[in-house]
Amino acid sequence: MKQYLKHYINGAWVESTGQNTIEVLNPATEKTIGLISAGTEEDLNKAVAAARRAFPSFSETTREERIALLERIVTAYEQRKADIIDAVTEELGCPRSRSEQVHYNMGLVHFKQAAESLKDFTFEEKRENSTIVKDSIGVSGLITPWNFPTNQTSIKIAGALAAGSPMVLKPASMTPYTAMILAEIFDTAGVPKGVFNLVNGSGKTIGNAISSHPDIDLVSFTGSTAVGEQIMKRAATTIKKITLELGGKSPLIVLDDADVQEASDIAVSNIMNNTGQVCTAATRVLVPRQMKASFEKELLNALPNYPVGDPQNDVFTGPLIAEKIWDRVQYYIQKGIDEGANLLTGGLGKPDGLETGFYVKPTIFTDVQNDMTIAQEEIFGPVMSVIYYDSLEEAIKIANDTTYGLAGYVVGKDEATLSHVARSIRAGRIHVNRGKSDYSAPFGGFKHSGIGREWGDYGIEEYLEPKTIVGLE
Ligand code: NAD
Repeated sequence: MKQYLKHYINGAWVESTGQNTIEVLNPATEKTIGLISAGTEEDLNKAVAAARRAFPSFSETTREERIALLERIVTAYEQRKADIIDAVTEELGCPRSRSEQVHYNMGLVHFKQAAESLKDFTFEEKRENSTIVKDSIGVSGLITPWNFPTNQTSIKIAGALAAGSPMVLKPASMTPYTAMILAEIFDTAGVPKGVFNLVNGSGKTIGNAISSHPDIDLVSFTGSTAVGEQIMKRAATTIKKITLELGGKSPLIVLDDADVQEASDIAVSNIMNNTGQVCTAATRVLVPRQMKASFEKELLNALPNYPVGDPQNDVFTGPLIAEKIWDRVQYYIQKGIDEGANLLTGGLGKPDGLETGFYVKPTIFTDVQNDMTIAQEEIFGPVMSVIYYDSLEEAIKIANDTTYGLAGYVVGKDEATLSHVARSIRAGRIHVNRGKSDYSAPFGGFKHSGIGREWGDYGIEEYLEPKTIVGLE
């Protein structure tokens, strides 16, 4: 049992001022793996005060000093590779190989990218008789979800460090251990006292207190749209800047010239990634009606290539994170059946032989109408809705008929059509065919998927305030 009951405040691990604890489970075994402290407002106040004290000196560090700091973090992070992979596998239930390929690497890449982006970042520019300088925003409050415990935390931390903003992080209580390893990494890398602080606890206590804290200047939140809305309201009381990275219901448009096998493989691998617990998951797959029979056949052929099982084994997909998430996925599968979608494969219950652990059956619905609940609401599990379309205009209309706008995908051959469709989807990030993520490019959502951008120089920008000085020679 991991008894990690301390918070990381002002460069040291300190006892919580409260007695309450939160259990952390391994979703593959359903067993408790450890406890963390349910932090108090007093704990948070101490962390904010430490960050505030660190602000004057840290915000004045040079670009070169912060690049060197980020590079030391990269080295220290690489030295903890095995621990990070173990922690993600255990607390998230992610298969070991994916914990390395996806989670370990995504955490690392944002620190590397921030160092790279800082090298030619414009902190000062001249326009007519104005000098525009970009100052650190002040103290940042970071609130992160459980589905990418390295990625979501390091995106924010890297941006804040690059911009000279001391911070307080509240990681998700279901996956806290990866974040605690990050705190150890920062300690090793010599992050100055008070610049990085970590307080564990519930969203209700620590999350709410961050959102309304008078000494926090920016809240950067990644999580559900419902909580994002609450944070926005609370942050309004102190006119805080906010960055919100929220949910999605992203479309994948298959063009009529697409290779059917390739398109179905892209669709299946996407929904199976991280057990479908991905904000950018392509949950609505739009397919030309004449492709129906061949596409369904290829979906079923592709599915066994992404096996579900024990994360310690050589599988692609593990369990869902928690029982309540499992229940929610079951609710949506039932809803799809009730609303008349065709259940091509999967369905309710657990896969054979996987009775212990929060495993679900990968589920594909076809003949889905876009106004069905399963096509409108974020399910956050390996559940795909296939929608057939008759014309490209109709496909684009369906793709955009959602309150979300986080990501979009288009698969096909004709370059002009790929470009037209990619430009027509109202979302922050569009992948064409197997287009790989570029970490220097901005990430974020349109509509209810969020406000602001992360990654690379756009991410650094969030933690800065532009100041205009007029009349300076
Ligand atoms: P969540 O909104 O339930 O929780 C996210 C974080 O907010 C957690 O740390 C939680 O403790 C905290 N929180 C809860 N209530 C709070 C409150 N009232 N005030 C402040 N903080 C509070 O989300 P989740 O279930 O952890 O994560 C899944 C969601 O995150 C999905 O909707 C997914 O799409 C979204 N997500 C978005 C992105 C993105 O980049 N857009 C990335 C990953 C996940």
